[in-house]
Order: sequence, then structure tokens, then C-alpha cells
Amino acid sequence: MPDSLFFPRLSHHGGAGGVTGSCHRLQISDDRALLVDCGLFQGQDADHVDGFEQLKVTFPVDDVLALVVTHVHIDHIGRLPYLLAAGYHGPIICSVPSSRLLPLVIEDALKIGFTRDRALIERFLAEVEGHLVALDYREWHTLVDDDRHRVRVRLQRAGHILGSCYVEVDTLDRESGERHRTLFSGDLGAPYAPLLPAPNPPWGCDTLVLESTYGDRCHEDRRHRRARLKAAIDRALANGGTVVIPAFSIGRTQELLYEMETLIHQAGSRRSRELEIIVDSPLAARFTAVYRELRPWWDAEAHARLRAGRHPLSFENLYTVDSHEEHERTVEYLAESHRPRW
Ligand SMILES: [Zn+2]
Repeated sequence: MPDSLFFPRLSHHGGAGGVTGSCHRLQISDDRALLVDCGLFQGQDADHVDGFEQLKVTFPVDDVLALVVTHVHIDHIGRLPYLLAAGYHGPIICSVPSSRLLPLVIEDALKIGFTRDRALIERFLAEVEGHLVALDYREWHTLVDDDRHRVRVRLQRAGHILGSCYVEVDTLDRESGERHRTLFSGDLGAPYAPLLPAPNPPWGCDTLVLESTYGDRCHEDRRHRRARLKAAIDRALANGGTVVIPAFSIGRTQELLYEMETLIHQAGSRRSRELEIIVDSPLAARFTAVYRELRPWWDAEAHARLRAGRHPLSFENLYTVDSHEEHERTVEYLAESHRPRW
């Protein structure tokens, strides 16, 4: 039986048996492979593995044609520095918005896990940026087309965070004439998420690699979530309190800001305009700034708001905290003043 019948073949180096550390390898032939995501293990997935051991890249990298990144959450790209350290120098393929957001995440990961040496960080980021290949959604990109294979990838909107995608990989084995479409879901969002156009469902595939972090839970719909947010804001307005929301810096913070602008706009009252909203995370603040610049990728609803003269993500009462000193000053200020805030 010819070897080619066993290809393409999948192996998982994270994101299987747990929900973080996503890293999938599609073996196209003995000497050609494709990598989808290279994330960090977090939470429970990281607990049972010894520190550096889990970060080591234990698979070969010299046969990897490309790394495709579904989105820039750390559990999908956090092992990128280790991949480069292991000798990977191929393209890092992602969507256009992800190509803008990815260096920020990697910079943060380097500062936390590796070094605070600015020159070293700059050098590393320049290296990463040199490898980035930004693709438009829905456009096929050919990775290899020779007498052995044709391998193409296409990114489709996944509705999870700005720039997120699921990945379709088409492989054609020229010797056997066999075609195969493999689809990697990455993290998928629900329709009607704030700011994001709804995901495009795929037409079909031969093999589906589906991530299901919240596969065992039913999410509340957006209307109910917004009503709960409103109830908390109303309470803060009534009792001059502070509402603290722990939120992921990338995606979740910007969704919350967008929904808060909605509520403030709908309330229209002087008191709710006085509500101060503080983003106490330099990373979240930097992301919010880039999210604003990426408005061509926002959904139709957000664009309608812009046309109506509103400013989702940059309204009047929004303050961002950029440093630890500023954080300490903010905490003092919160303790002393009695104004409602988030
Ligand atoms: Zn994610």
C-alpha cells in the first residue's frame, strides 16, 4: 500500500485532552507538515506539567511549511517564542487584524516570562514581524505547488475576537490525485457578539478539528448579559459604589466597553454620563487602542454607530491605567472619592 494513503495525518501537541495549549500538526508527507497554533498551557492544563517541560517544542520543525494562527489569545500563540527558539523560521500566517495584535501579545509574554531587556524584546519582535504573512479572509493562499503537492490555506471569520479565524487546508497529492480538506476551528464565537461580524459557516470538509472549550455549557444570550450589566451599573449609580470586572484583556474587555457605551447611550441621563470607566490593565488599554484602529473589521452595527457620531470604545468617561504607579494612584482615588465607577 503506498505511503501517500496515510496522509494527511494529524497529531496534537496541545488543545487535546485539555482546552489550552492549542497546537495541531497536519502531516502532508514524510517531509512536509503544517502547524496550526502554538499556544501556552494555562490553568488546570498547566498544573500537572512541570514548568519548562511543557513549553519545550518536542516535534520536528524543519519540515513545517507554515504556522497558521487562528487568533492571538495566549493559549493559541504563547509558545511561539519556543517554536522560534527550536529553529522554526517559516511563515506565520494569520488574518490582517491578528497581524497587528500578535506582536502586542508576544511582547507581553516576553516581558512576563523571559526578559525586560528592551533591546532584546525589540529584536525578537522584529524577527516575529519579519515572518508574519497577513491574509485577507476568504482568499486562498498557496503554500506549495510543485510536482508532489498543492497545499492551500484559507481563513474564514470565526467571530471569537477581532482577527479570529477558522482555517481550511486543502491538500492535493499529485501522485495519487487525492484531495483532502482539513478544517481547524480555533475558538469559535457565537453570532451577534459585539463588534464582530458573525462567523461564516463552512461548506464542508473531510476532517474537522473542533475545539470546544465551552462545549459543556450553554451561554446566556447577549440581551440577558446586557441586562445583568445594566442592573450592576444601576446599583453602582444608586449607591456610589465601584464595580470591578475581571476580564480577559483581549476581546472580552473591548466587548464590555462596547456594551457599556450602549447602556450609557440608551440611558442618556446626566448621572450615567458621569459614570467613570477605568480600564486597569496596560495590555487591555493597548489592545483597545489597536481595536479602535481596526474599525474596517468591525461589524455593520458598530459602523452604524460610528456614522451616527458615536464612539464605541473611546467614549468620554473612559480612563485607562498604563503603569503600576498609575494603578496605585487609581486605587487610592477609588478609596477616597465616592463616585460610581467601573
Ligand atoms: Zn481564544
